[in-house]
Amino acid sequence: MRCAHWRRVPLELVREAREKSSAEHVDRAVQCQLSAHDDGDHYGLLADVGEYGTALWLRWRGSTEAEQAVLPDCPVVASEPGGGGCGLFAGHIEQHTWEDTPKEVPCVS
Ligand SMILES: [Zn+2]
Ligand SMILES: [Zn+2]
Repeated sequence: MRCAHWRRVPLELVREAREKSSAEHVDRAVQCQLSAHDDGDHYGLLADVGEYGTALWLRWRGSTEAEQAVLPDCPVVASEPGGGGCGLFAGHIEQHTWEDTPKEVPCVS
């Protein structure tokens, strides 16, 4: 189950993300990419940065200021054929993306 937390991306971070990555479009709001978790920071994907194997993430906790983080991709790849790689960053908490069920949870807030 995917974490249901969303965060609006501050305008200056959107601008910065466009400069750092070659992305034409950076979302104004991101959903946490982790599996549902009770503790720790939330991480929403802003953009893939130019450098191979890294991505630009928005990190926040509760209602505190969100901040940008350039993080290396999670190097773990699914063992079963067709599983593909993990869409998260190295050292993330909870499950890898392929272990998670794709089912969307309705917004409860
Ligand atoms: Zn989260
Ligand atoms: Zn992973």
